[in-house]
Amino acid sequence: MKTLETDVLIVGAGLAGRNAAAELRETAPELRVLITDSGGAASTEIMGFSAPVHPGDSPELFLRDILVSGGGLADPELARTLAEGAIPELRRLERCGIRFDRTADGRYDTVNAVGSSLPRVVHSGTTTGKQAMRLLKTDMRNLRIVHLMKKDGIITGAFADDGTRISAKAVILAGGGFAGLWKFSTWSRNRRGDCLILASDAGAELTGLGCVQFEPTVAVFPEHCSGFPVITTILHEGATLRNRQGQSLLPREAPIPRKSELAKRILREINAGNALPHGGILYDLSGLNEEIFAGKYPEYHIKFKQIEPDFKRLAFEVKPGAHTTLGGIRINSRCETSVPGLFAAGEAVGGIHGRDRIGGNAGLEVFVFGRIAGKSAADYVRKTKRIRPPKLDFPFRPTPENIFREIAVILDSSFDPLKDPGKLEKGIDLLKQLPPFPHVRLAIAALDDALSHP
Ligand SMILES: Cc1cc2nc3c(=O)[nH]c(=O)nc-3n(C[C@H](O)[C@H](O)[C@H](O)COP(=O)(O)OP(=O)(O)OC[C@H]3O[C@@H](n4cnc5c(N)ncnc54)[C@H](O)[C@@H]3O)c2cc1C
Repeated sequence: MKTLETDVLIVGAGLAGRNAAAELRETAPELRVLITDSGGAASTEIMGFSAPVHPGDSPELFLRDILVSGGGLADPELARTLAEGAIPELRRLERCGIRFDRTADGRYDTVNAVGSSLPRVVHSGTTTGKQAMRLLKTDMRNLRIVHLMKKDGIITGAFADDGTRISAKAVILAGGGFAGLWKFSTWSRNRRGDCLILASDAGAELTGLGCVQFEPTVAVFPEHCSGFPVITTILHEGATLRNRQGQSLLPREAPIPRKSELAKRILREINAGNALPHGGILYDLSGLNEEIFAGKYPEYHIKFKQIEPDFKRLAFEVKPGAHTTLGGIRINSRCETSVPGLFAAGEAVGGIHGRDRIGGNAGLEVFVFGRIAGKSAADYVRKTKRIRPPKLDFPFRPTPENIFREIAVILDSSFDPLKDPGKLEKGIDLLKQLPPFPHVRLAIAALDDALSHP
């Protein structure tokens, strides 16, 4: 069996993990850091992130929006840390060379995410996440971490799925969310909540698992675009949603509702029998100005033209799809979990957004909390002696792929934006009939929590 030794082990090389690694590299170069990743980070998909730079905006106003959107379930301290961290992280990225789009008069070109009181999403074209991933490129091992080791209640290392044993003084969990457990999801690759399971099995608390963000407008047609999230910000720019009878789901003059409300509205319309032939609602883009769209979203423009060369005829059928999970590992504002030596950041954590997330805030949290996790782990490691992990047999029983398929079908039919108690209970019953693999337990916990937070 292979054995590795490091000071800090980072699980996940999306932007949360890469920011933690960058912080460690820059402020604690004497420490050894090992990053492991199993591929498929969602961070490449980040178009932009929230920052209160619009005239009249402020961190206080931003915080208020987060708390309103969180519906009483956001942790105010974490939300404040997020709101106050936005502008410093934007400046840091600019110093590193990312050029954010500006308007002709030199202001930031901020996109109006649904649910925000002001336009707040700063972006570099639509590839902010990809650029940041390149900028924070890091050496990593292609290993899936499957078990955390502890001695006397303190983290001592981890096991990878190939049996590699890693001795570490601290572990940062940055393995993303679990929206990939649904079949109809915007990103199914490796977003299965491994880090939540690792944390919970190590004794850390999870929080808010029933808070799941469904992207309201995910394509079901054209078929080759199935699962593609068609951006909602264009609802502010002339795009509209129509049912089978051609009626608009968005009354004129009324503000565009936040994503959770929009997802419910679309689903109710579908459930009422008003869907189009492929089971979705019409996302009619004919009201968009092509030139403005092409200028603002060049990559999407290219993609859309490949789907339908005549922009005026472009239309999708859409329905809500599991997108990001807002619940996860409970942390404090230093990214510490309740287990000494265990830290977490990014979509794997819960409590920052509460019930609903404002568009652009997941892209922000990976920078703000990734950096904090790196700093806190460094502080901890500097004052901690290495404890050798106990001698353990390789303890891993993987969740088999056929069980993932069963979980996906059950979640699709039982857990949607409407959180119908009858469906959730049925889902729990069905999941309980499956063998109790870790991801089955996670799915049951999510449904249970959704029942208690309708
Ligand atoms: C299609 C799409 C578009 C989005 N657009 C935006 C946007 O424009 N703005 C915004 O704010 N948010 C957006 N989001 C949300 C945002 O992308 C995510 O919340 C964020 O990227 C999560 O980053 P992360 O670093 O926490 O996790 P990820 O980027 O998902 O990375 C997690 C990594 O951990 C690895 N991993 C998982 N388990 C293990 C394990 N056991 N061992 C080793 N490695 C492991 C995975 O392989 C993965 O590479 C979007 C999400 C999607 C799906």
